[in-house]
Formats: sequence, C-alpha cells, structure tokens
Amino acid sequence: MQIIKTIHIEEAKPKKAAAYRHVSREIQAEDSTVQVGDVTFGAEKPVIIAGPCSIESKEQLLAIAKSVKASGAQMLRGGAFKPRTSPYSFQGLGIEGLQILKEVSDEIGIPTVSELTSIDELPHFIDTVDMLQIGARNMQNFDLLKKAAQSQKPILLKRGMSATLEEFLLAAEYILKEGNSQLVLCERGIRTFENSSRNILDLNSLALVRILSHLPIIADPSHAGGRRDLILPLSKAALAAGAQGLIIETHNDPEQALCDGKQSLTLDQFHDLQTNINQ
Ligand code: PEP
Ligand code: MN
Repeated sequence: MQIIKTIHIEEAKPKKAAAYRHVSREIQAEDSTVQVGDVTFGAEKPVIIAGPCSIESKEQLLAIAKSVKASGAQMLRGGAFKPRTSPYSFQGLGIEGLQILKEVSDEIGIPTVSELTSIDELPHFIDTVDMLQIGARNMQNFDLLKKAAQSQKPILLKRGMSATLEEFLLAAEYILKEGNSQLVLCERGIRTFENSSRNILDLNSLALVRILSHLPIIADPSHAGGRRDLILPLSKAALAAGAQGLIIETHNDPEQALCDGKQSLTLDQFHDLQTNINQ
C-alpha cells in the first residue's frame, strides 16, 4: 500500500482587505459638503436632480429643464453616452448630447450631471458638464475612477448593482486617494433574488453610509424600482433613511422616451413629487 505523504501546507492567512480610509468618519467626523455651481450636497436641504435618462434632442431637454427647474429641481441630469445592456438599444447622442446639455444649462441656469463611460470621453466633459457621473456598470473601473478624479471635477459615484457596501466605499476611496474630495455617492438599487421590481433600494446601506462615512449620499429611486409608481414611496423612504438628495428620471413624454421611460416621471408627476417631499 502506498504511503500517502502528508504535506504540511501552511494555511495562507487571509489578508484583511485594505479598509477605506479617506472615506471613513474616523478620519473626518463631520459631514462633507460638495459644491457644484451654486448647489451644495451634504447641507440641510436635500439636493434634487431631475432630467431624462438620455438626451434625445435640444427641444426635449429644454422643455424638461424649464419645467423641472420651475418645480424646484436644483440640477439637471441627462445621459449622452449610454451604457446599454443591449448593443441594439439607443446608445445616446454622444458629444452632440453633451453640447446640447451645455446649451440648455446655460440658457436655463442649472448645473448638470452626465455619465462618463470611458476615459476617452473625458476631454469632452471638462467644459460641458458640471459633475461627472460614474455609473453602476463602471463602479469598479478603477482606471476610469482615477482619471475622472484627477480631472478635479465633482463626481457622482453610483453603486454597482452587485457591489457590497465595502466595495462601494473602496471605489469611493480610489477617488479621494487621488486628491479629489468633491465626491457624492448614490445608492441606486442592488440585485437580489427578488424580481418583482428592477432592483432593491438598499435602505440599510444608505443609513449605514451615513454612519460609516462623511461623504454625502443620494438615492436613485428610478433605477432602484424601475417603475414610476414606486418613485414617490422610495424617495420618501430614502430621505427618511438619511439620503441627502435624489436623482429622478423625468421626461416630457415618457411613453416615447428612447431609454427608461417606464421609470421616468412625467413633468406634472415630478412637480407633485417636489410638493410632496417638501411638506
Ligand atoms: C443612469 O443614471 O441613467 C444609469 C445608467 O444609472 P446606473 O448606472 O445606476 O444604472
Ligand atoms: Mn436610466
């Protein structure tokens, strides 16, 4: 009978993941504020961002921007580079979309946020957009995080749909480590076994971020719920859990929207939401 030699393999001691540092409340006890134009994230008043999922035309964006501003939105959102699940879906207007965003922002007088999907696009964002959005699909695109941070522009970092809270905060750490402290986090829903709505708004993490980190955090009830009738209840829940703002997809004709119409409020519904959450 062969003798099986037992080889003693020293158990590799699991290395503890490097904890976030700059992001932590242990480094900074008081809340951070982030300034985008005349808008302050992390102050008393929640910051409400509204606008279409994607910029479709100047007429569309102008109509939406005028209306949401009149209803009380402090910032305008609009995607020009769209990271779509299907390559056959509308991919956004690209550079032309950014130019439209800039024109509308100048005409209406409202700061803007738009998603950056690749480092190559960055030069086009510098002079056209006030805040860079890093989307859920790019939360761990570390090179993009570093280059976006180095631009010194304010950043809205959305949580990856399958990212743990620690991974989310470590992604934020990449940005702060580059010396850019103008960072706002966004809880936009995560994937779970529950498939009755698009994602699940993780209220636990929202509340936990307020405990663990000094960074401002806002919520995206459009992508969390995936349907417009969930936007108001999720908005109220998010604010109650500690969200310091909301980003809400809003469209002048959601039925015809080229992207995410089902989870976009109409202009009237956005007006009602503003009235409701201000009560
Ligand atoms: C968006 O804001 O339009 C978007 C694509 O969001 P997310 O990255 O959270 O899916
Ligand atoms: Mn969208």
